[in-house]
Amino acid sequence: MKRTKGKKAAILFLLPVIALWGCGTGTKIVKQQKTDIAMGTIIHQTIYVKDSQEQDLTEGVMEQIRMLEQEGLSRRLDTSELYAINSKAGSPEGIDVSEEMMELLKDIWSVSEASEGALDVTIGEVVQLWDIDSYAAGERTDFQLPKEEELKAALEDTGYERVAFKENRILLPENMKLDLGAVGKGITCGKLTEYLEQQKVEGAVISVGGSILTYGSKPDGTPWVVSIIDPENTSDNIGCLTLEGQWCVSTSGSYERYVEVDGVRYHHILNPATGYPSDSGVSSVTVLTKDGLLSDALSTACFVLGEDKGMELAEELDAYVLFVDKEGKLSMSEGMNKYFQAW
Ligand code: ADP
Ligand code: MG
Repeated sequence: MKRTKGKKAAILFLLPVIALWGCGTGTKIVKQQKTDIAMGTIIHQTIYVKDSQEQDLTEGVMEQIRMLEQEGLSRRLDTSELYAINSKAGSPEGIDVSEEMMELLKDIWSVSEASEGALDVTIGEVVQLWDIDSYAAGERTDFQLPKEEELKAALEDTGYERVAFKENRILLPENMKLDLGAVGKGITCGKLTEYLEQQKVEGAVISVGGSILTYGSKPDGTPWVVSIIDPENTSDNIGCLTLEGQWCVSTSGSYERYVEVDGVRYHHILNPATGYPSDSGVSSVTVLTKDGLLSDALSTACFVLGEDKGMELAEELDAYVLFVDKEGKLSMSEGMNKYFQAW
């Protein structure tokens, strides 16, 4: 028996649709909304702008996301900077990278170091061997477990500590492939924060798959409410976060993308130490921080580390974290307590 499951977009609870609000100063606020697909996931947007704003900013947001995917982060598109970096693996002189990419890579590497490799974006070849994303998306149906020897060989090509950074150059060892799937949606949330600031948006909530950005405020002054999916029953929620202003919330869960064969679930979050789907007793991890990259990087790292070590890591990096274990038990860091309410 084989069952596959694609990514569920996190559900956002918003006030009922009202098209126009008065601000007391004569300025009206209008709501723009859109649901679309990019980066292999669903994007939901609600943006509040002054009615003098003529541009449809939801289109602008989609442009930003597609640009980031096509020019920067995609492992598959040959137009991206990541593709160029991977294609130079093994070259003794490495490759020049943009300032922006270098900054992202440095931030990712600092989480890899702090998590002792629980987050390791050099596992691209292992990710490709499993190819869970393609099966979960229904693009492939011929799932076979990777062979031990193949996994072992692919693991030998990985290791964040084997990558050299020299000024503006990066040098990957032969056959290594970077995969930014664990951080890409959070990076996007960070980039969109800058865009919303530039566009002088009043308030917005945007979900990029499992990473959700809140920004500014709603015209009626009520906070943003972000619900957290129940990993056991994904049409339900276990509770919600109540947030004011700019935040990023990322969830990594074994329910998001997986293949099930004879009752065994093979999901998309891998333990870089073994090459197999991580089995740390966790069903989902939600991380709340101001920084998009950090929230996404940590949600993956904490999933791999499990509750005790994951909690320590999140505290060390000033992020708030919520774990749901395989029995459905919730545990959270002290900071998370202030924002999360169980239902
Ligand atoms: P999602 O992309 O569903 O939000 P995550 O943020 O947890 O979930 O990222 C999982 C993706 O990251 C996988 O699909 C794979 O591409 C990659 N990946 C899996 N395990 C790791 C890991 N331990 N370190 C870095 N990247 C990983
Ligand atoms: Mg992640």
